[in-house]
Amino acid sequence: MRFRCLTCGGIYRSPLADGMEYFHACPPLSDAELRRAGVPEQGLESADRTRSGARDQNLIFDGPNLRGRVKSEGLGQTEVPEPGGIVR
Ligand SMILES: [Zn+2]
Repeated sequence: MRFRCLTCGGIYRSPLADGMEYFHACPPLSDAELRRAGVPEQGLESADRTRSGARDQNLIFDGPNLRGRVKSEGLGQTEVPEPGGIVR
């Protein structure tokens, strides 16, 4: 299945082609995103790149039942169709 992260807009598949589950974590803010937010060129290097509401699907195991939970849901994710759809 293919998903879009509702925090950063990233698109990813899970499970991956080799069957492994993918755990999305939003990347830090890019130069382009900082520029759009009004950060001047000379401020890019030292800018805070923390993404507000970042999603991190990596699991933490801190409960009594040994079932992991997502570190941070962020704004969530939504399923998106495969590009081009499926030809039958
Ligand atoms: Zn993301």
